[in-house]
Amino acid sequence: MADIIQLLPDHVANQIAAGEVVQRPASVVKELLENAIDAKAAAIKLIVKDAGKTLIQVIDDGIGMSVTDARLSFERHATSKIRTADDLFNLHTKGFRGEALASIAAISHVELKTKPEQDDVGTHLIIEGSKVVSQEVIVTLKGTSISVKNLFYNIPARRNFLKSNSVEMRHIIDEFHRVALTHPDIKFVMFQNGSEHFNLPKSNYRQRIVNIFGSKTNEKLVPIKETTAVVGISGFVCKPMFAKKTRGEQFFFVNNRFIKSAYLNHAVSSAFEGLLKEGMHPSYFLNLEVAPKSIDINIHPTKTEIKFDDEHALYAILRSSVKHSLGQFNIAPVLNFDR
Ligand code: ADP
Ligand code: MG
Repeated sequence: MADIIQLLPDHVANQIAAGEVVQRPASVVKELLENAIDAKAAAIKLIVKDAGKTLIQVIDDGIGMSVTDARLSFERHATSKIRTADDLFNLHTKGFRGEALASIAAISHVELKTKPEQDDVGTHLIIEGSKVVSQEVIVTLKGTSISVKNLFYNIPARRNFLKSNSVEMRHIIDEFHRVALTHPDIKFVMFQNGSEHFNLPKSNYRQRIVNIFGSKTNEKLVPIKETTAVVGISGFVCKPMFAKKTRGEQFFFVNNRFIKSAYLNHAVSSAFEGLLKEGMHPSYFLNLEVAPKSIDINIHPTKTEIKFDDEHALYAILRSSVKHSLGQFNIAPVLNFDR
C-alpha cells in the first residue's frame, strides 16, 4: 500500500490548536494581557471594539521584542518562558506553551508594534494567514502593541456562533477582572468602542477590588492570612450578610493565576456553614501560594484547571482559615426562619 500520512502544514496545525486556545474574543484578551504581564509591564491598555469581534488591542510598556523575536513569536511552540521540560514544574510566568500568538495569527489579522527599551527604533509587522505580509522599522515607545482584527474571519462556523455583543463583552470583562485582580501593582485601562470603561490605578489588593467592584465593597471584606508549610493563603472573603443568590464574585488565584475549582469552592462554602441562608453563595477573593513543583497547570490549554499534589490538605487548611477569619470578625449566624 502507498504511504498516505503527511505532516500538516504549520498554518493548518496552528488553526487546529487555535480551536482549543481561542474559544471566543475573551480568550484572546486573556492571552494578550498575560503576555503583557509576563513582559513586566507597569501599565497595560486594553481596547476592544464590537465586543472584540472587530478589534482587540493590548498595549504595554514592557520589555518589548527584538525584530527576530517579533517574527518568531508567531511561530508555534516559540517561547522565551521555558527551555526544558523541568521548567514546567517551576513556572514563574503565565505563559509557557508558546501557542497563543501562533493560534491567534492563524484565525485573525494581526498587527504588532514592538520596541525594547534600549533600541532606538522598533518593529512593525502585519500578519495574515500566519504569514508576515509586511515588516517595517518604526519609531515607537518602549513596549508592545498587538492588535487582533476580524477574529475567526476564516472560520465562519466559529464566527457565526459567537454570542451577542453583550454576552461576549461580559466574558471579556470577566477575563479583565481576573487579570487585573492578580496584579494590583499594574495600572490597567480599558476602552470599549472608544469610551473608557475601566481606569484602575496601581494600588494594593483591597483597593483594586474596590476599584473594580465599587466603593461599597470595602466594608464587606474580611481579610484572610494564613501561612503553612503546604500553602500561603491571603485575600478576602465577604461577610455572610453580603452573600449573593448567584455565584458572582468568587475568585481563586493560585500563584497569581486564576483557576476554577469546584473542590476548593466547596472548602470555602463549607466554612460559611450555618452563616448563610440556603441557596446563597459567598463572595471571595483568595490567593493561594504553593510551591510551583507541587502543582500541574498543564492540564488544559486555557490553563484554568490545576492539579495539586495534596488537595486534601489544601481543602482542610482553606476551610479552617476562612472559618477562623469569619470567627474573628464576630459574625453571628443568620437564623434561618424561612426554611
Ligand atoms: P507564551 O506566552 O506561552 O510564551 P505566546 O505565543 O503567548 O507564548 O508568546 C510567544 C512569545 O512572544 C513569548 O514567549 C514572548 O517572548 C513573546 N511575547 C508575546 N507577547 C509579548 C509582549 N507583549 N511583550 C514582549 N514579548 C512578548
Ligand atoms: Mg502567552
